[in-house]
Amino acid sequence: MLTNKVFLKKTKKGSILKIVREHYLRDDIACGSACCDICVHDEKGPVLEDNPGNPSQQFSEEHYIIPDTNVVLHQIDVLEDTALQNVIILQTVVEEVRHRSAPAYKRLKEVLANPGKHFYSFANEFNKETYIEREPGEKSNDRNDRAIREAAIWYRDHLSKQNCSVKIVLITNDADNRAKAKQSGLVAFTDFDIS
Ligand SMILES: [Zn+2]
Repeated sequence: MLTNKVFLKKTKKGSILKIVREHYLRDDIACGSACCDICVHDEKGPVLEDNPGNPSQQFSEEHYIIPDTNVVLHQIDVLEDTALQNVIILQTVVEEVRHRSAPAYKRLKEVLANPGKHFYSFANEFNKETYIEREPGEKSNDRNDRAIREAAIWYRDHLSKQNCSVKIVLITNDADNRAKAKQSGLVAFTDFDIS
């Protein structure tokens, strides 16, 4: 499936240039979870464990964690802690971190490359079920927050429809994002709360 992204750019002379970029959407991107029987995982097998065992006083059920961009930028130390495992890092988040902080991006890539951490990078921007268009008048930031919520909802529904009991927990410091996540029936917290 192909969609076009349209950008408007102002030239130095003041005229408006319309730039159209092709954006391919795929239907074969695996969720990366060991408790999923639908997705075709790559040769290394699923990254996320079927018993994530994330310790949390706020939420006792087995869960995968999805942090938003600010949480990754400001709590990278917590992400690096060995106690924290089975985390889904969305492509939207990776790209925002890359644009905003080279050191945080480097550390995030290192955590993603560590097999013992079970961090899975999910290409939500290329998945036809999780990709969203920016709405007219919508700020880029708000669009990205919405993309993160959409991906979290997709994960929750994708796992629950195949009797996987692992839940999804969104971590965000943004009050508006958290309220909207809760409206969509998502579990959302401000902190990792590892004990
Ligand atoms: Zn799956």
